[in-house]
Formats: sequence, structure tokens, C-alpha cells
Amino acid sequence: MELKKNEIVDLEITGYTAEGSGIGRYKDIAVFVPLAAMGDKLRVRILKTAKTYAFGKIEKIVSGSKERIPVDCPQFAQCGGCVYRHISYAAELRAKQQRVQDAVERIGGFHDVVMNPIVGAKDPDHYRNKAQLPIGRAPDGGIRMGFFASHSHRIIHCNECLLQPEAFTAAMDAFQEWASQSDEDVYDEQTGKGRLRHLYLRQAGATGEIMVCVVVNGNGVHYEPELVELLKEKVPGLKSVIINVNREKTNVVLGNKFRTVWGSDHITDELCGLKFNISPMSFYQINRNQAERLYSLAGQYAGLTGSETLLDLYCGTGTIGLSMAKQAGHVIGVELVEQAVEDAKKNAEENGIENAEFLCADAAKAADMLKNRGVRPDVVVLDPPRKGCDAALIETVAKMSPSRVVYVSCDPATLARDLKLFAQKGYEPKELTPVDMFPRTAHVETVVLMSRVKD
Ligand code: SAH
Repeated sequence: MELKKNEIVDLEITGYTAEGSGIGRYKDIAVFVPLAAMGDKLRVRILKTAKTYAFGKIEKIVSGSKERIPVDCPQFAQCGGCVYRHISYAAELRAKQQRVQDAVERIGGFHDVVMNPIVGAKDPDHYRNKAQLPIGRAPDGGIRMGFFASHSHRIIHCNECLLQPEAFTAAMDAFQEWASQSDEDVYDEQTGKGRLRHLYLRQAGATGEIMVCVVVNGNGVHYEPELVELLKEKVPGLKSVIINVNREKTNVVLGNKFRTVWGSDHITDELCGLKFNISPMSFYQINRNQAERLYSLAGQYAGLTGSETLLDLYCGTGTIGLSMAKQAGHVIGVELVEQAVEDAKKNAEENGIENAEFLCADAAKAADMLKNRGVRPDVVVLDPPRKGCDAALIETVAKMSPSRVVYVSCDPATLARDLKLFAQKGYEPKELTPVDMFPRTAHVETVVLMSRVKD
């Protein structure tokens, strides 16, 4: 049975893909339908076909699912940001829980791991503490600013993204007011001309401090003092105004040169009782409140009592290891990006933490080197990027024979694959908790405790 392009079919949505589309079945073909909700009965137009699956779009909602809610953002269907604004947050959390459970059972083959309910956010909106907003020209000549449409470089104008804090909207409004009065033109990707490229915003969630960074194709902009005055007047919590110089014809947002125009060159946040300085370039968790809950779970799973050696692999700016340093004897963090390692060292110093060291290296190579030096961590924390861990790393970690391994994952499928490899090396998953770090998007984070079962 094959489907053809443009064919119209009726189907019921029975689940969600990893990207947040609805899945329905037509005979033996899985049809993926964006913006659909589980329980929807739909008339769907087929857009693209393959042997066992097809992509379609909703022609008509014949009968809408109970999970549906009114969409509260006019840009939802075009913007590449959210995928779940049309279903309730409770339904979204169920979908994410199911996705983690399916991966652990089907890919990992684990059926008796304790799986806790997903930790949902108290506020599924306003959590993004960083925004990179491209600046363009609207057909009426005004400034257009917001987000790229899904898979494109067309700017969708959006001052009131619900995922961002209100102070960002205030900064966007103030910037646009200034831009409409200034003589600066917007940057054109094709010609490489025009000065205003991006408005780059960061917020320290606990302290409310705001950084506004204007990315400029040049050394600065005319009327900088006027811009600063307007921002000071309109943006609550403003702590830092920075010009970033980016003269390259590139998609990379930030250039290498920064000039602080007003205030501090960084903002400061608090996380797990520690202070973290955030410069424009520093990596920092996008959802501070949920990061704190994720780290606290990781800390619980690590079960430190004050004397242990903790190895924090893929440590970024050191936040996980540092949040546990007080309960550990010694912390070793490993991270590939040099700037992040520098930040991790600074973060340790600023917080008076003296029992943490950081290495700039590939996690697998560093683990091997540490093993050969006789380092025997009691607990290993892993927080790899989406592709998960190398098999070689898993083997090395197992050879170090820590009593516990805490795996923080942003991809359930690679997590499940890696859990299986760990199990083959004598580490069994004991307990697992999904955490919703990115409400309204398809992403889901999971933290897992593994224990050594054989010597
Ligand atoms: N644990 C941190 C960061 C996790 S993101 C936090 O919670 O904030 C994953 C990190 O792994 C990134 O900082 C990335 O630079 C780093 N990374 C990617 N590949 C790596 C590798 N092969 N070896 C070491 N670190 C790596």
C-alpha cells in the first residue's frame, strides 16, 4: 500500500514524534503531521512519501483532541521555536514522559527501571534567558526583528515571544524605537552591507540582571548614548550594554570583539547557592530554574558524603561539578571547549571552591589518561551533547569502577543506547527522572542513576 503526494487521507493521531509532530497510521504507513494532537481525528494532505512513512499537513480537524488548547501566539505555526503550543502543558509532559519511556524500553531493553514522573516547569513560558534576534527590514520600511522561520532565513517579526522574559520584550521595543530614529541600516546577508545584525539578550534569572548586546557590522553605531539612555529607561534590571563587532559574512552570530558601552561586561546569576558570571560568550543553561532542579536531582543521585572523588565529564563551565563540590572530596571536570574551561576555573575561584580542577580535553581521552594515572573516581557524572558518549568512553569509565554513574542526557534515544552499553559493562540503571528544561519545544532532558552491579 503506498500513499501518493497530495492524496487526502483520514486518520487518528496516536502519538508524537521526537520532533513533536503527531503520528497517525494509514494502513501500514506512519504519517507524521505537524501541529496535530494525540486523539485528533484529521483529514490530512500527504506532502511527501517514503516506503514506510509519509509527511502530511492538516487539511481539516474532523474532531479535535481533548489535549488541544487555544493557541496563544500568533506566530506559532511559522516560527521555528515552539512545537507544543496547541496542547495543554500536562499533555506535553505526558508526551515527553512517554518518549523517554519508549526509548528506555524499546532501544535500551529495560523494563524495570524506576521511572519517576517528569519534572515539569512551574511556568512553561518566559524561561529562555538568552535570545539572539536577527534584525531585518519589513516591507513597509520599518525594523523587523524576531526569529527565523522554521528551516529558513526569513525573519518572523515577534516582539512578544512567550518563551522569553518580559524584560527582553522591553529591550526589543526600546531598540526598535532607537533604530527607527537613527540613520543605521540593517545588515543584508546577501550584500554584506548595513550595520545592525543582531540584538543579543541575556538574563540572570535569579538576580534579574539583563545584558543587551548589539551585534554590529562595524565598530559601533551612531547615537550610542541615546540607545543607552533609552535602554536604561525602559529595561528593568539592565546591567550591561555591549557592542559586538562582527564584520564577517557568516551565519555565526557573535564576532570576537566586544566593547562595553555602559555598565558591566558581565551579568551575575545564582544557581544552586553559587554565583555565576555570564559574559556574552559564556555557555549557561537556558532555563535557570529547571537547571537548578536538574542539578539537584543529579546531586541526589551522586549521593556524595564529603570525601569522594567526583569526575564531571562534559562539564561545560563546571556548573554540575561545582554544585556538588561541597559534598565531595575532590572534583575533576573535563570539557573540550577551552573558553568554557577558563570560565569553569573562574567560577570555582569566585565561589571560593578549592577542591575542583578542570581539564581541557576530549572526555574519552581524558578519562583514559586519568585511569592510566590511577585516578579512581567514586562517582562519574556524564552530560554529553545529543550524540551521547563514545563506546570507548563508556568502557573506560567502567574500568575506573566508580560505584555510581549519573548520566544527564538531552536525547532519550542516545541515552537508551548508552545505558545498554553501560549495562554490558556492569552498570545497571536504577532510577531515572525526565526533566522538562525546554517547555513548548520537543526537547526533553533525563537524569539517570546507574550503579555498579559486578566487580
Ligand atoms: N554539564 C554542562 C554542559 C553540558 S553541554 C552544564 O550542565 O552546563 C555538553 C558539553 O560537552 C558542552 O560544553 C560541549 O562543549 C562539551 N563537549 C562536547 N564534546 C565533548 C568531548 N568530546 N569531550 C569533552 N567535552 C565535550
